[in-house]
Amino acid sequence: MLIVPEHLIADLISAQDCFAAVEQVFAAMARDTAYNFPVIREAIGHADALYGFKSGFDRESLALGLKSGGFWPRNADKGLTNHQSTIFLFDADTGRCRAVVGGNLLTALRTAAASAVSIRHLARRDARVLGMIGAGHQSTFQLRAALDQQDFDRVVGWNLNPADLDRLAKVADERGIPFQAVDLEQLGAQADVIITITSSFAPILQAAQVRPGTHLACMGTDTKGKQEVEAALLGKASVFTDEVAQSVTIGEAQHAVAQGLIAPDDITQIGAVINGDRPGRVSDDQITLFDGTGVGLQDLAVASAAVDLAVERGIAIAVQI
Ligand code: NAD
Repeated sequence: MLIVPEHLIADLISAQDCFAAVEQVFAAMARDTAYNFPVIREAIGHADALYGFKSGFDRESLALGLKSGGFWPRNADKGLTNHQSTIFLFDADTGRCRAVVGGNLLTALRTAAASAVSIRHLARRDARVLGMIGAGHQSTFQLRAALDQQDFDRVVGWNLNPADLDRLAKVADERGIPFQAVDLEQLGAQADVIITITSSFAPILQAAQVRPGTHLACMGTDTKGKQEVEAALLGKASVFTDEVAQSVTIGEAQHAVAQGLIAPDDITQIGAVINGDRPGRVSDDQITLFDGTGVGLQDLAVASAAVDLAVERGIAIAVQI
């Protein structure tokens, strides 16, 4: 069995490698050759922790396994990241454990890759202004992956605590792109692409604040009850997702579906757009919205790529179990 520790991941795998892995697995999901198993997530009644598993199998790449971990709210006091995860890969021919891979950085990279895939396939090619809502841990990964994907010439941002926007300003500065803190009205009026990455439980962005032609990647809502945009916006938009079952239960679409504004059948799997089986953006006036809920297959795809790279470079640690 191989071990690829967390500290090796940053120098091992690039955002571009993660983009390719996530795009491939979204396409495989839409071909029904890759599927996610039911998610388990439990409050364990200790340390206020939420713990669970996301798992699946991709018959094309033979990535089989699970990501285990969750949220430990008091970890920061111990100098540790609150979100903790480890990815386990199994040999699809024998069931033996093939690799254990540190999953913290990979989670951020695979989540950023998902919104970047949505920008590649759904945003207007002439989109030049990127709007960021949220400035927490995930936000800089989201921003970097979006800037890799499209020639944005300006970034505008909003966050509940405006002081945290410095994080985004720093990344924009590194890339030589101007950054401006704005209110939500201005953000909607100026941005061609909007990424939301917050832990909000109430709509932040209202439908009337979004212009025709905008592409939104809603990435923060991954739990029942969370919400980042007004449900009416999904009624106005063409809605896409990684997995429809998650989108309607724990994703941004849960509210619009519950209010009868859209039906599950109105939501398109982004993999079908990648495969060319379903249309993506069909007009410059259309609002497209990607509901990125986060699936286990994304974790397995990027972990498999990391293991391959570690083996290639001779740095994977081999152990007997
Ligand atoms: P974080 O705790 O570092 O940052 C949280 C962000 O949410 C901050 O910008 C904060 O200002 C904002 N926020 C919190 N409450 C808010 C409110 N009521 N109104 C407006 N903004 C509010 O978290 P993070 O690691 O950056 O993760 C952000 C979100 O992304 C989390 O909800 C996390 O569960 C989710 N996430 C989703 C995926 C996925 O695959 N879709 C993957 C990883 C994380």
